Amino acid sequence: MSARIIEGYKLYKDNAVIVEHYEPDHVIFKVKNKKNTDYYLVSMMYGYWNCDCADYQYRNQRQPGSFFCKHLEAAQFKLLDLLNNSDKEGD
Ligand SMILES: [Zn+2]
Repeated sequence: MSARIIEGYKLYKDNAVIVEHYEPDHVIFKVKNKKNTDYYLVSMMYGYWNCDCADYQYRNQRQPGSFFCKHLEAAQFKLLDLLNNSDKEGD
C-alpha cells in the first residue's frame, strides 16, 4: 500500500480535513498542513480531483490522473464519512 494512503488516513483520523463545500458533483476540502498553520485546498469536480500542494502539482503534471497526494487521500476518507452520513439522513 502506498505510504501516502497511510499518511492521508492519519490526517483524516486527526481531524485535519474540513469540508468547505459539498454538492454531489463539486466538493471542496481544506486539509491542515503539518504545522496546523495553513491549509491545502483539495477539490473534486465532476470526478476530477485536484490539490494545490507542490507534491500533487508536480507529479500530476508528469502523469495526469495517476497520482494522489496524502491530502487527496485524506479528503477521500472524509468523503466516505459524508456519504455514510447522507445514507443515514435518507432513512
Ligand atoms: Zn496535496
